[in-house]
Amino acid sequence: MIRIATAGFLHESNTFSSIPASLDLWERSGVLEGDAIRKEYASSQSTLAGFLALEQEDPQVQVVPLVFSRLTPMGAITEEAIEYLMQRVVDAIRDNGPWDGILLPQHGAAVSIPFLDADGELLRRVRALVGPTVPIGMALDMHGNVSPEMVVPADVVTVYQTNPHIDARAQALLCGRLLVRTIRGEIRPRMALATPPLVVNILNQGTNDKPMSDLLAVADAQGKRPGVLSVSVVEGYPYADVPEMGMSFIAVTDNDQSLADDVAQTLARAAWDLRDALNQGGTPIDGALRQADAAPAGPVVLFDVGDNVGGGSPGDSTHILQAARRLGVRNLLQALCDPQVVMQCQAAGIGGRITASVGGKSDHLHGVPFPIEATVTALSDGRYEETGPTHGGFRFFNDGASAALRTDDGYTLVLTSRAAGSSSLQQFRTLGIEPLNMKIIVAKGVHSPRPAMEPIARQMIWVASPGVTTADLSTFTYQHRRVPLYPLEPETVWP
Ligand SMILES: [Zn+2]
Repeated sequence: MIRIATAGFLHESNTFSSIPASLDLWERSGVLEGDAIRKEYASSQSTLAGFLALEQEDPQVQVVPLVFSRLTPMGAITEEAIEYLMQRVVDAIRDNGPWDGILLPQHGAAVSIPFLDADGELLRRVRALVGPTVPIGMALDMHGNVSPEMVVPADVVTVYQTNPHIDARAQALLCGRLLVRTIRGEIRPRMALATPPLVVNILNQGTNDKPMSDLLAVADAQGKRPGVLSVSVVEGYPYADVPEMGMSFIAVTDNDQSLADDVAQTLARAAWDLRDALNQGGTPIDGALRQADAAPAGPVVLFDVGDNVGGGSPGDSTHILQAARRLGVRNLLQALCDPQVVMQCQAAGIGGRITASVGGKSDHLHGVPFPIEATVTALSDGRYEETGPTHGGFRFFNDGASAALRTDDGYTLVLTSRAAGSSSLQQFRTLGIEPLNMKIIVAKGVHSPRPAMEPIARQMIWVASPGVTTADLSTFTYQHRRVPLYPLEPETVWP
């Protein structure tokens, strides 16, 4: 019997966010153990589902889920929280060992105080604990900023290769299979990491769209070379101010370091040649609203890039709403985080009237509160389930206590108590709103809403809205990133 432990924590840390990922928030989000992890994730399409699926395809393999937590993207993880999370993982692995292998379900863009590379630090501690001979596999999100510390101490690293992320389970299963073959002595993985001085604009990260689809085709071809076990294009996460911020490439081969180096470098070169196409901007707010309003039929989906909840934004931006009112554009649906006004709606009850100002309360970057007079049309606990494809493969959602409102001037709003992206139409339907009947839907996100929105959208427009996830990286002041990086330093050369 092969016994493999899986334990970890998942966080994409937006270091420009003013909301720290505190221990209190992690605990409220839930630190799961053992069977609770199976219950939450085994039936999903997430990384853990892929690790756990190893058992079904191989009766000689046992995967033991020990401890796992994930928290919505927000600011860096506090020192108290990171020590707690890492200690839980390390203690659980130590107390339940020995192990034949370890699988870490990490993100790759976790930043903490004081570890700018929190995923690398966890890997370092786990390696120190289990010693040099126990194989370790790690499956990462495609938005990881990959450092050598995330690769060198591991035996196998795989990365989602779709954005929106619908292959988390598949890539984790690949990681697990390679780990099992390593444990059995069938392969000897060798890895290479290439990190060209290149950032990809968040708007150009869709893997079904050019130019990213072209790059993935190159990766596919490289993956077919004899001896190559896995090839990963890692898009990177530009909202984490860390030295390894940017695009990267990982190749895993069977005992052939020079082949791994060549595959990773070939991909890096292909990306560098596409650097202009990988850095195109979005549509300004007013232009996007006019275009949507003029469309013969809806829904037209406007992606609120600056308030991308999945990227660490607060989910309460009112920039698009304010512009819509100014331009007289109506029949617009959007969700906004505003726990105070949700309570006001609960007090008014369904059918009740409220006068309030919604959203725009988290900070100055995401607009000012939007005054409304409205009727409460529905209330809920904010929980819903999506059985269709979702970004990251998640199935169960919890937006916190929620309310639906119809404003007197024609806006349909869903108010949530937690920052909520737009990953599922159930967010609206459980509150009695049919998104198909809307002319315009504002989706909080860039790629994560696509599996939900693409099937119903007549048009999709990515809006260059301000916020901590703006597509315009020149508005950020970085302290830790590498210099130079294209396109932040447009003259960057890569010899
Ligand atoms: Zn991601």
